[in-house]
Amino acid sequence: MNIILFGPPGAGKGTQARLLKEHFHMALISSGDILRDEVKRKTPLGIQIEETMALGQFPSDDIILKIFKEYLEKVRYQGVILDGLPRTLNQAQKIDEIFEELGLELDAVIQLAVDDEELIKRLSERIICKTCGATYTPEVSPKKKDVCDKCSGGDFTRRPDDEPEAVKTRLQLYNEKTKPLIDYYLKNHKLQVVDGMKSVKEVNAQIESLLGKSQVLTDKSGCLYSAQDI
Ligand SMILES: [Zn+2]
Repeated sequence: MNIILFGPPGAGKGTQARLLKEHFHMALISSGDILRDEVKRKTPLGIQIEETMALGQFPSDDIILKIFKEYLEKVRYQGVILDGLPRTLNQAQKIDEIFEELGLELDAVIQLAVDDEELIKRLSERIICKTCGATYTPEVSPKKKDVCDKCSGGDFTRRPDDEPEAVKTRLQLYNEKTKPLIDYYLKNHKLQVVDGMKSVKEVNAQIESLLGKSQVLTDKSGCLYSAQDI
C-alpha cells in the first residue's frame, strides 16, 4: 500500500504519518527529513541543497524528485507514506511517473482538511526540538515534560516559519501551488478527504478506516484482506 498525506501546513500530516507508519509498518518518506538527511551526509546534492536553503529558497523539483526516487527504491517493497510531497502539480505528475517506472501503484491520497484560522492557531502553538527537529504541540507534547521523546534533548524552540507573518506566506503558497493538486487527484479518483479539525486520535481512526476499505477495494489480485494484515 502506498499513500500520500496531503494538506496545508499545520494540518497534522507529520503526526498522522508517524501513527500510520507504526500501525501499518510502512516506510515514511517526509520531504523535510530526506532533504535534511542529504545535507547531513554532505552528498553532492546535499551541498547544493544547503546552498539553496541558505539563500532562503527551496530546492528545485528535479533535486527533490531525484532524492525521493532514491529513497523510494530502497523501501519500495514495504509500502510508503509520503509527507510533504508533492507540493506542486509538476511534482505530482513526476511522482506518478516514478511510481510507474518502479512498478508501484499509488493507492490513496488523503487530504487533511483544516480551516485557515485553526491552522494559524496550531502553528503558533507548535515547538520543535533544537537538536533533532522533532515537532510538539499542546496535543502531542513530550512524554516526559521538557525532554524530547526522540533524542532526550531538553532545548526547544519555535520554527522561524511558524511565526505569524511566515505562516501567512506559507498558506498563500499552499493555496496557490498545492491546492490545485486536489483537482488532479480528484480526476484520477485517488483523493479521500478527512476532517482534520478533529483530535489526533479521531483523525487517525478516520484514516485507518479509509485505508482498510480502500485496500480491500483496490487489491487487484482479487484476494480480500484488510490493511491490518499487511
Ligand atoms: Zn529531539
